[in-house]
Amino acid sequence: MSDLLHSPKNIYETADERLRADIATYGEGYKNFIQNARTERECTLRVIELARARGFREYVHGEKAIPGDKIYSVNRGKAVTLAVIGSESLANGVNIAGAHIDSPRLDLKANPLYEDSEIAYFKTHYYGGIKKYQWHSIPLEIRGVICKADGSKVTVSIGSEPGDPRFVISDILPHLGQEQSKKVLADAFPGEGLNIIVGSIPDNTKDDKVKDKTKLAVLRLFNEKYGITEEDFISAELEAVPAHEVRDIGFDRSLIGGYGSDDRVCSYTALTAILEIEGTPKRTAVCLLADKEEIGSESVTGLQSRAFDRFVGSLTRSQGVNLDDCFAESFCLSADVCNAFDPNFPEVSDKRNNAKLNYGVSLMKFTGQRGKSGSSDASAETIAKVRGLFAANNVTWQIGELGKVDQGGGGTLAVYFAQRNIETIDAGVPVLSMHAPYELISKADLYSTYTAMKALYTL
Ligand code: MN
Ligand code: MN
Repeated sequence: MSDLLHSPKNIYETADERLRADIATYGEGYKNFIQNARTERECTLRVIELARARGFREYVHGEKAIPGDKIYSVNRGKAVTLAVIGSESLANGVNIAGAHIDSPRLDLKANPLYEDSEIAYFKTHYYGGIKKYQWHSIPLEIRGVICKADGSKVTVSIGSEPGDPRFVISDILPHLGQEQSKKVLADAFPGEGLNIIVGSIPDNTKDDKVKDKTKLAVLRLFNEKYGITEEDFISAELEAVPAHEVRDIGFDRSLIGGYGSDDRVCSYTALTAILEIEGTPKRTAVCLLADKEEIGSESVTGLQSRAFDRFVGSLTRSQGVNLDDCFAESFCLSADVCNAFDPNFPEVSDKRNNAKLNYGVSLMKFTGQRGKSGSSDASAETIAKVRGLFAANNVTWQIGELGKVDQGGGGTLAVYFAQRNIETIDAGVPVLSMHAPYELISKADLYSTYTAMKALYTL
């Protein structure tokens, strides 16, 4: 009678040598991908590079969509959509994998550089949901661009090359931390305290009118290296990101530790799945790698922008198909991470409904919070369809829910696909320490999510 029971299994319970090898090999590719793609701009560049190597070319707006075409479209250097045009008309809809390539981090403020007690600092404003205490006393890199008023642009990346300096936000020593330790976490580490140390040697100018000589010295270094002045910081996008190296975690190397797995891990699975499509699929395959998900998918590079509609709309128009008719027939896996059950903190999860490490790609019927508010609640029909698809394609999967009822919650891209009348469900990799500077994922779940994305493109 036990076949009446739903009993998900740990992937490694049944994995043969071949599968274990495939899981390990695929993990290496992912580690390589995130090691040096630590901002949405860097991810976009890497995606273009990988796509071009696979025969994809940049789509020219208005161009006709011809079956077998492998194309991509870049949104302002921060988001990219790829497509492989299918043999069927776009009136039959498209198969979409949608993930995001932005991750929580510290953005530099418009006037970032200041000096206090002869130490130079950068002021920051955090981006996305972070636990602020986690960003003190860890090595940081600074990456991004500085745009000058003359239209020129310099790319900044300090901290990743061997021998590069790094940057740190200090913390109170425990000997003097008695008052700090009595505060609740939300008050103990204020946002305005996330100031990054960037120098401590004063400039040797003889000009007595210059008060902040350490600040001036840092500015001089920036001027020598990038040809900028203080005002240029105002039109810069500089991001402080964790400098931790991507590594295998555990004696058995089953996990990957690194920065930015939310949501570059799902992005990577969707990307590799579309890049590996052989020949011409029946339905057109689309892979959207979006920016700004962590702050609500706002902005011109987020999914609330009509850039996605413009791209798919150009394809449908070229086949004489109405975009709304295409969307109505389309299907989307909103590929985003969920929390993995954490035995260290069991109290926040409903163990019976929380995703577990090594149990495969996690389907999420809904996200949101307090009564599913703000989420795209997938229909029973949609979940049944995906169960069937995964069964037919040997995808190991599980069901997940983001924490106990009323514990908190979160959002994904799903609502914005649903707003476009696209049938959507969330599916992705479970993560331990999600949004921390160093996140953990399982190689088996990573591989399972990749097989899920490949299955999607056979729909
Ligand atoms: Mn995410
Ligand atoms: Mn997130």
